[in-house]
Amino acid sequence: MDTESYNKHLFHFLHTSPTPFHAVANAAEALLKKGFIRLLETEPWHLQKASGYFVVRNDSAIIAFYTGDLKPWDTGIKLCGGHTDSPCLKVKPMPELQNNTMTRLGVEVYGGALLNTWFDRGLNLAGRLVLRCREKNDIPYLASGLINIGAPVAVIPSLPIHLDREANTKKTINAQVDLPPLILTGAFSKPGALHEALLNAGKHIPDAGHEIEEIMGFDLFFSDAQPPFYTGLNKEIISAPRLDNLLSCHAALESLLLARGAIPCLAILADHEEVGSETPAGARGSFLTDTLTRIVPDPEQRLRTFARSFMISLDNAHALHPAHAERYDAGHLCLLNQGPVLKLNAAMRYASDAMSTALFRQLCQEASVPMQTFVMKSDMPCGSTIGPSISAATGIKTVDVGSPTMAMHAIRELTGNTDPHSLFKVLKQWFTTGAEPLLSLT
Ligand code: ZN
Repeated sequence: MDTESYNKHLFHFLHTSPTPFHAVANAAEALLKKGFIRLLETEPWHLQKASGYFVVRNDSAIIAFYTGDLKPWDTGIKLCGGHTDSPCLKVKPMPELQNNTMTRLGVEVYGGALLNTWFDRGLNLAGRLVLRCREKNDIPYLASGLINIGAPVAVIPSLPIHLDREANTKKTINAQVDLPPLILTGAFSKPGALHEALLNAGKHIPDAGHEIEEIMGFDLFFSDAQPPFYTGLNKEIISAPRLDNLLSCHAALESLLLARGAIPCLAILADHEEVGSETPAGARGSFLTDTLTRIVPDPEQRLRTFARSFMISLDNAHALHPAHAERYDAGHLCLLNQGPVLKLNAAMRYASDAMSTALFRQLCQEASVPMQTFVMKSDMPCGSTIGPSISAATGIKTVDVGSPTMAMHAIRELTGNTDPHSLFKVLKQWFTTGAEPLLSLT
């Protein structure tokens, strides 16, 4: 696949994955198409050699794996992982705010969103509904499913400069006051409108019955309604929502689909990284260790497997901002379109060390892909990823890498037009034949 067709595929994945639920549903669909078998956590597993499987938790996290020859204690497992969630606005449980015939929806800020970028944009509404349904003369039952309005149904209007003369110099944003998006106005604005819209959307949920009696619960999020696009005179830049970290999830998935050979391969796409990962579907929860326990049930064989395995933790890296070089370490400047970024931090906010760094360098060389190295300025705090959580819980050697990205955590982020494909090429190398001698390093 060339870079352009790869990006086209990525754009589609980003646009049809407004929430972690949708990203996981899209991943599951792609895996099923390639012959991977869905496993349920509630059922026994009977794994075969040289076969692909996947398991979903909370509809928002997914682990897919290829079993190879099923003796990972001799070879280790090749792992990679990313996160399905992105900073955004989450709709409150009782959200409707009526004011002068206008309706807004109360929201909470999810993760470290760059809030000023959410104003004056068309916002889509999507997420998960749980409905109480009833067939005729039958007892009620619960059905859950995903909804995606797929249109710019709301907007957060700025206050005009005439009413806020300091907007360009001293603007502050109060999440409670300023952020609730405007969703209805004028004569049509009435209480219960959201409820009605959700009931209508719920009718499209496959398991919803003849009659939907009530919405019993929802996880709803606002997202940018505008699809990804190229920018720059020569289209060198990609502008898209949720590049952090669906760019990585897409690369992990596409490369795992190509996994073959004797060494088992696994990709985890975890949820809730942007809020600390400490959930059943997050990287600090039990999802990965539970799954590895079922792949390798014997405790000693499992520990031997962990000791031989390597993990590539994927999360976007800060690319140099053209106006603010002073915020970056001058010796470790990373640029768009210059290849994946290796991330290091002395306080181990990134899991990379000399050994896992060697693995990544080797893979980039094998795949003929350029690479860059990022270290945070020493006088600024460093972010983190799922890498340290997973390597601490399992002892698996881990490297932190990611695509160079500008405007991280804005509603739209930027990356280079060659960067997603470069990352994919390195992961493809990893999941096919790459760096196998390094797995013997212990
Ligand atoms: Zn991230």
